[in-house]
Amino acid sequence: MKEVNEKPHRRATSAKQEQIPRQETISLRQKYVGPSCKLFFTSDPLKIVRAKGQYMYNEKSEEYLDCINNVAHVGHCHEHVVTAGNNQNAILNTNNRFLHDNLVLLAERLTSTFPQELNTVFLVNSGSEANDLALRIARAHTGSREVICQDHAYHGHVTSLIEISPYKFNLPGGGGCPEHTHVALVPDVYRGKYRDKDHQGEDLGQKYAENVKDIIEKMQSEGKKPSCFIAESLQSCGGQIIPPPNYLREVYKHVRNAGGICIADEVQVGFGRVGTHWWAFQLQGEDVVPDIVTLGKPMGNGFPVSAVVTTADVADSFKKTGVAYFNTFGGNPVSCVIASAVMDVIEDEKLMDRAKEVGFYLKSGLQQLMEKHPIIGDVRGEGLFVGIDLVKSRETREPHTKAAEHALSRFREEKILMQRDGPFENILKMKPPLQFSKENADRVVSVLDLILEEICALDSY
Ligand code: PMP
Repeated sequence: MKEVNEKPHRRATSAKQEQIPRQETISLRQKYVGPSCKLFFTSDPLKIVRAKGQYMYNEKSEEYLDCINNVAHVGHCHEHVVTAGNNQNAILNTNNRFLHDNLVLLAERLTSTFPQELNTVFLVNSGSEANDLALRIARAHTGSREVICQDHAYHGHVTSLIEISPYKFNLPGGGGCPEHTHVALVPDVYRGKYRDKDHQGEDLGQKYAENVKDIIEKMQSEGKKPSCFIAESLQSCGGQIIPPPNYLREVYKHVRNAGGICIADEVQVGFGRVGTHWWAFQLQGEDVVPDIVTLGKPMGNGFPVSAVVTTADVADSFKKTGVAYFNTFGGNPVSCVIASAVMDVIEDEKLMDRAKEVGFYLKSGLQQLMEKHPIIGDVRGEGLFVGIDLVKSRETREPHTKAAEHALSRFREEKILMQRDGPFENILKMKPPLQFSKENADRVVSVLDLILEEICALDSY
């Protein structure tokens, strides 16, 4: 008689979990998981079973260089972070309505990395929760629901955020732009409305900010005022966009003059990825300070923890609504100790210096490739947040979507995990764990060189 299998639900929790054959994992996923949950490499998905540092391993122990997982910020399964979480989990994990040191110490430590006005913290569990709470706080502070976001932006998966995420609501089934959402131009000086080559010597930051001013004036003519302007400090979904100098300074001025407040979404780009600063909004100057900053992804190195950081004044308006804020999991002792451990590693291993140095090295290598490959229209980035814009013509900057698609699958064959993004999906996007090394950068550059040579040789391109 055939041996009886363990009950299906026991398989996932047995300590020495036997691996399910890959094909069965696929079938179980198809059978039980919501079909809109999309996998990387849909036609031939990767099954990753373990990871360390900047490397991931599939079920055959084949190694992949990870260029895309900004969540594993200080490196996959970093021992210091894992140990801190495990130890705390063995002692206590409960909700934040009990006094606990981990929460207050994390809040103190987080605020020490911000300009001093940003001195008040709410701890939550995901980037979406952080942005949703930021919107609620902005409404309470301003009495308005009107939100200005950027074109192509993505701020999270909950209803309130899909409504301010053109990246999603502009899709055929995405529901369209709600009345309270006002979409500003993305300050993309490479392919946006105002391009560097057409406006040499002009203040493009100011020019793009004028568009926000126009939106506000239109709103005012209809008797409305902005609640908030929300933008990633460097837009990731739009294709690794680095806003021109002066952009945030000018936008913030217009928004505040109209009674609104300014939210910097640092869910993707925060925690030192840009190398020179903890927070990417700081790239725009010391005097540029948002009213609310939202954090997420890298904060727990894979563990769900995120935060809203704001001023005492704005937080006070939220309190004055009289509605107490409670979040079952937000700010629990385990997530707080993990976030503190992530900050330890960033400091102890000098990962910001590394992001700066390796990022510069990577960008230089990619820029050298531009001499050989006209298909690379632009290489841009800050620290280890880098985009490679593939074009059909450098003159027109017409996006080369097909080449990016091809490059992605070739990178995978070469055991390098890469992503593409932007409205035309022609931008190869890199945001690796900060342990990424110069050797890793060399490998990416030489494999890209090879792939682009192949693409060049193909008649169909
Ligand atoms: N903001 C930005 C800029 C993001 O990229 C994301 C996630 N991709 C979110 C918010 C939402 O974060 P989460 O998926 O943790 O809810």
